[in-house]
Amino acid sequence: MIVPGFIDAHVHFFLSVLLYNKKLTYIHGLTEKEVAAQVADLPTVNGWKIGIGWYSSEFGQNVYPTRRSIDAICMDTPVALISGDAHTIWLNTKALEMMSISESNVPTGMSGEALIDREGLTGVFLEAVAIHYLAKILDPLKADFATECQRYMHHLNKMGITTVGDVALTGEAEDDLVYPELYETVQGESSVRINFYPAMREEIETIKKVAQNYQSETLRFGGVKQFFDGVTSTHTAFMKEEYTYPYFEGDIGAPLIAVEKMQKLILKANENGWPIRIHTIGDRAIRLALEYYQESLRRFPLPEGKYNTLEHLEVMDANDIPLTNQEQLVISVQPSHLLVGWEALDAEVGPVRAKQMFPFRNFLEAGAVLGFGTDTPVVVDVSPLESIYYAVARKDLSGNPSEGLMLEQRISVAEALYAHTKGAALALSRVDIGGLEPGMLADICVLDQNILLAPTEKVPNTKVIATYFNGAIQ
Ligand SMILES: [Zn+2]
Repeated sequence: MIVPGFIDAHVHFFLSVLLYNKKLTYIHGLTEKEVAAQVADLPTVNGWKIGIGWYSSEFGQNVYPTRRSIDAICMDTPVALISGDAHTIWLNTKALEMMSISESNVPTGMSGEALIDREGLTGVFLEAVAIHYLAKILDPLKADFATECQRYMHHLNKMGITTVGDVALTGEAEDDLVYPELYETVQGESSVRINFYPAMREEIETIKKVAQNYQSETLRFGGVKQFFDGVTSTHTAFMKEEYTYPYFEGDIGAPLIAVEKMQKLILKANENGWPIRIHTIGDRAIRLALEYYQESLRRFPLPEGKYNTLEHLEVMDANDIPLTNQEQLVISVQPSHLLVGWEALDAEVGPVRAKQMFPFRNFLEAGAVLGFGTDTPVVVDVSPLESIYYAVARKDLSGNPSEGLMLEQRISVAEALYAHTKGAALALSRVDIGGLEPGMLADICVLDQNILLAPTEKVPNTKVIATYFNGAIQ
């Protein structure tokens, strides 16, 4: 079967390159102690031990780890453990010393914070404050990027991927881990198109320059990114109604940046002709962003072929689904997220809201355009064929949960294939890729079976026989 090259509309490219090249190591466990114990086996890279993949929500309701548990395993080497959703970092005492972090010099004026207990800094940092430090820790790892990036692109080609959308990891820290000047070093050798989305800021002169400088077919400024809220597992997703097991009375989460500021940033981005992509997970964040997009479409419609997106849309109020059908809007979702932590959804948002999460079929029925991605490295090495399977089966690869997750929201293989090619291309405001049509760039993928006819459970085992990038076999 011949299909357009797959497009992963939502990735964190730099982190994914590092993880693939073993500069970061996957780390996971159900208790703080279990995760900390794995620090002993982490390789030391450039003087640091760096892991990614743990979730504080696994340790209990509103419980965060502390530097002391890592110190018990590792005192002399700085350690940084990045949470699985990449919104939190957890450092040991040596790391705090190396970076001269103290209670008095933690940055202010951005979302997030340094957690503090009786002994001072716990070593845990949240949101933009976390990314502020993470960018500094990872900076020296850019040295081997060109070779490592080519290796990773080759790996993506093997999965049939020919284009990615690289989005900012933070809306506020000065370094958002989107590095066009670094990606430029592999241009000429590139076998994956990168469309990147730095954070939308109030100061737009820098963005203007970047937007002008990067407009090639292989490396392109696609627009900007912002974060309206966090995630349900830590009650940072911004909800209409209180969490089912609130941390405090009236716990509805909160916006990461002020609601009025978000509205302003959306309008300003579109006024400049830049599409904006907004992380929205809670139903209140989703609703407000959809309203602001309506306003923006009226006042500052984007040039033809350009699209705003909402990212994730996890806790979706069924009443707001009609609003997802807007011109110049793509609903950008990650089918693999369905299967991450689904056992905990009832506890996080309650059974009523949990049943309405990830309503892919309702989006399509409302007339919305769906674009698929993975959010790598929040999930690792999920292939497009696996994503298609997740959206169609709503089960994981071992067939769990056996009854499927909200089965009424299943979509067809054809719809999922569209979302991972044409739909994802629109999410990236690209009309020159995502289809097999005269005039389009020749990014093509050859599969060993017709996935439209194959039994659903065989879809993830489909082999990619060949991938063509810009007409050349990879
Ligand atoms: Zn992401």
